[in-house]
Amino acid sequence: MPAIGIDLGTTYSCVGVWQHGKVEIIANDQGNRTTPSYVAFTDTERLIGDAAKNQVAMNPTNTVFDAKRLIGRRYDDEKIQADLKHWPFKVINDKGKPKIQIEFKGERKIFSPEEISSMVLIKMRETAEAFLGQKIKDAVITVPAYFNDSQRQATKDAGIIGGLNVLRIINEPTAAALAYGLDKNLTGERKVLIFDLGGGTFDISILTIDEGSLFEVKATAGDTHLGGEDFDSRLVRHFSQEFERKYKKDLSKNPRALRRLRTAAERAKRTLSSSTETTLEIDALYDGIDFYTKISRARFEELCSDLFRSTLDPVEKALNDAKMDKRSIDDIVLVGGSTRIPKIQSILQNFFSGKQLNLSINPDEAVAYGAAVQAAILSGEGKNSSLQDVLLVDVTPLSLGIETAGGVMTKLVERNARIPCKQTQIFTTYSDNQPAVSVQVYEGERAMTKDNNLLGTFELSGIAPAPRGVPKIEVTFDLDANGILHVTAKDTSSGRTRDVTIRNDKGRLSRAEIDKMLADAEKYRDDDNQQRERVAMKNKLEAYVYSIKQAAENSDGKLSSNDKNKILNLCSETINWLDNNTLADKDEYQHKFDTLQAQCTPIMTKLHQGGQAHGNCTGQQNNDGPTIEEVD
Ligand code: AMP
Repeated sequence: MPAIGIDLGTTYSCVGVWQHGKVEIIANDQGNRTTPSYVAFTDTERLIGDAAKNQVAMNPTNTVFDAKRLIGRRYDDEKIQADLKHWPFKVINDKGKPKIQIEFKGERKIFSPEEISSMVLIKMRETAEAFLGQKIKDAVITVPAYFNDSQRQATKDAGIIGGLNVLRIINEPTAAALAYGLDKNLTGERKVLIFDLGGGTFDISILTIDEGSLFEVKATAGDTHLGGEDFDSRLVRHFSQEFERKYKKDLSKNPRALRRLRTAAERAKRTLSSSTETTLEIDALYDGIDFYTKISRARFEELCSDLFRSTLDPVEKALNDAKMDKRSIDDIVLVGGSTRIPKIQSILQNFFSGKQLNLSINPDEAVAYGAAVQAAILSGEGKNSSLQDVLLVDVTPLSLGIETAGGVMTKLVERNARIPCKQTQIFTTYSDNQPAVSVQVYEGERAMTKDNNLLGTFELSGIAPAPRGVPKIEVTFDLDANGILHVTAKDTSSGRTRDVTIRNDKGRLSRAEIDKMLADAEKYRDDDNQQRERVAMKNKLEAYVYSIKQAAENSDGKLSSNDKNKILNLCSETINWLDNNTLADKDEYQHKFDTLQAQCTPIMTKLHQGGQAHGNCTGQQNNDGPTIEEVD
């Protein structure tokens, strides 16, 4: 069974698989090679991907995106507090965790970010299954290099809820480097800068690749709110001002006009990456006014010049943090759709004194590409192919330790330690006859735990009375290949051993919660399937009734007027019924279809015998009804 690689992005996701000796990036049912990381809930159905994004303006409060900005964080995280103001959907505080509250089929529902991400992952899995024609279980999923333990764990949980066996969580920049085969240069150390400018986020990572398999993230920097959407906003502002100048009308308070303008602006922006000028044509944009205009690449660059130039700040910061000179960078890799903008490329290339940029792989797909390579290696699919059997080794992004007396951070695992790894250290009691110790696990580089990030706490009790310093408590940090931490403690002094795993208090889900969500995910998928069948049946009925109606109308005397009227009456009754029963269930549509067919067929056969074919279920459509493609 093949394993897939999934780039689970903030705005878009992408899936790839290793097949016939190369990576195949898989298009979704809309023919798109990236899928919006959007999930929407309506009165009747759940939508994922393009379908969800396309209806966002109509249904803003029940269309969820940006789950990646929420996953594995606590509600009071300052980043979440800042983002909250911009989300049209409601985020609530559920025992310290952020949860998303929406309305689905008329009922209030609450989802964790893991569940929303799992829905996107399910969509990616189904995309791959449709392409490969078989069930998929195993996957590699990517996360930003700066994701901490709980964000990684939560992403893995999202995979589990999505019914996936997560082979490995790998860093996005590592995946991009793998995609370019930068690991193939097996001798010595390569220094690689990954410049990842997507729709909403900007990440810089500097990696070193040692002997082709050790990927060490030396520094990360970026801007969590800079990307293609900001360039779109600049264009929207420019065009609304132009509209106001020309027509003395302010469209900026009209959400529908703004949305249509934004869609057109984004399209224009993409065109400007390959053409030096483009046109914008929007009929009846506002107050019935058609808006036709042009924009040049130079003007676009001018509108965004400060944003474009600002991308160099994180590059410099990352170089500084990694204590590297820009001349020492061996490879510069472009990732993210916005790196297609020629000005961005030239600014970056100039900064690196004209050095060639790596841009042969589609920038939207490089991360999924690398994830697919890694998935093939881990699953053994890549054997006997051009893939080397070197397993990449990531390193931990932050030091891990526990709090000792006085609030001191005592590190067990140093930052940049190769993973997987296991470290054990002996600790003891602080006072005489101390019956229990509280083990507080932190991640971070600062000397005092108050400046680091608390991952969890647990208590080890039942320590036999003894003077301070005598009991021996063995604490073990076991960091798995995903960078996820498992902690155990053992009281060896009493001869009694006891394993304790970290308490679930850092935004992480418990096993029971995951199991429940897994069951829910299956229920939602069944609902989706039922909904699809319902709509297919409705479309079949609709197509049938219109084809019969048209055939009767065009029967040119081949039907008696009695028969013709009978058919037309039956048709208009059914059309009426359809208008008034848009939410009927599949069986009702089926019943209507069967009845209508039974009534019409004897009459329509006469028409047939008269030599004139009447339309069957295909082809004949009313103008605004959904089309049906297949006839069973
Ligand atoms: P990503 O999240 O990496 O898929 O990036 C998506 C972002 O890239 C969106 O903001 C797109 O508008 C932008 N993008 C995609 N293609 C182009 C292009 N040809 N020129 C400029 N921006 C693009």
